[in-house]
Amino acid sequence: MSKASAFFVEQLLHWHTHHNDREMPWKGEADPYKIWLSEVILQQTRVAQGWSYYLRFVEAFPTVQDLAAAPDDAVMKLWEGLGYYSRARNLLQAARDVVKELNGQLPATYTGWRKLKGVGPYTAAAIASFAFNEDVPVVDGNVYRIYARYFGVDTPIDTTAGKKTFQELAEQLLPLGHARDYNQAIMDFGATVCTPKAPKCSTCPMQAHCVAKAKGKVGEWPVKAKKRKRKTRYFHYLVFQHNGHTFLRKRTGKDIWQGLHDFPMIEGEKWLSPKELQATAEGQAWHQGTGEWRERGRYQQQLTHQNIHAVFYEIEAEPKAESHWFSVPQAEITNFAFPKIVDCYLRDNTLYLTLH
Ligand code: SF4
Repeated sequence: MSKASAFFVEQLLHWHTHHNDREMPWKGEADPYKIWLSEVILQQTRVAQGWSYYLRFVEAFPTVQDLAAAPDDAVMKLWEGLGYYSRARNLLQAARDVVKELNGQLPATYTGWRKLKGVGPYTAAAIASFAFNEDVPVVDGNVYRIYARYFGVDTPIDTTAGKKTFQELAEQLLPLGHARDYNQAIMDFGATVCTPKAPKCSTCPMQAHCVAKAKGKVGEWPVKAKKRKRKTRYFHYLVFQHNGHTFLRKRTGKDIWQGLHDFPMIEGEKWLSPKELQATAEGQAWHQGTGEWRERGRYQQQLTHQNIHAVFYEIEAEPKAESHWFSVPQAEITNFAFPKIVDCYLRDNTLYLTLH
């Protein structure tokens, strides 16, 4: 191991013994099921946001058996607002597989965890090291950023070559027998010192050997090859209301928000007026030509690769319903799990407020 590598490992572990004060409800947890829950919740989610979801999940489903036995909709409802819903679907599927195929016994190794649905290399390494101290390094955005800066690696992190380079570096650096501490230390270091914006270089214990600091490239590293363009989509929701009922559909197929519910919707590449909406194929198929259209607000939600704009029209009429829609008494609408943008509309409008 080079001098810079040895210095890094030693400093990181030393730093962590004095700065292991980042409080989180799952910190120091030894139960692999709870670690798994926390890691899945924290993928693409800030700690502050994931915190209450974790507590609610642990309370509602204290064991993998409880989770496996839960109805799909109960899990989706609890996940509501957290985004990236495929995580919840995979978690539930994996819990059921554990109960059915592994006799309810959670895996005790990295390789075993990798076989479960939705458990990628990072999550498997986190669980195997935190619960069992297995010698596997965690490699995620924190690790890419810290190693790219400290060692001056400018291979783009979103390329095969970059991923291989960082994986090998992480494996070489991991001090055997200390995976639990080392992995926790690097996550905490990335979250509090070598942060994406405004890292604390002037007080950083690594600064003596940090290549990015020496070359003035802290803001440039890690390097990314591609910049993905966000797609903008316009959703026109038709909230049909008839005899105290409204119409919902469960989202299926390969699009976003699979497993959640929303209203009948017409998508456009730009905003469409009620007249234009009525002239579309869906508008003609669904709308009987009666009832006033009231616009009840426009909302925007930013996803990783998509910008969603939504407008909600409440229509006092019975639609020509499609087979995959179902009619729901308005008093029961809160029982369903919705995407955030629909939830915002429901919360802003009397439809929801009068029902709480
Ligand atoms: S000196 Fe700055 S860039 Fe280098 S490891 Fe420390 S915080 Fe990160």
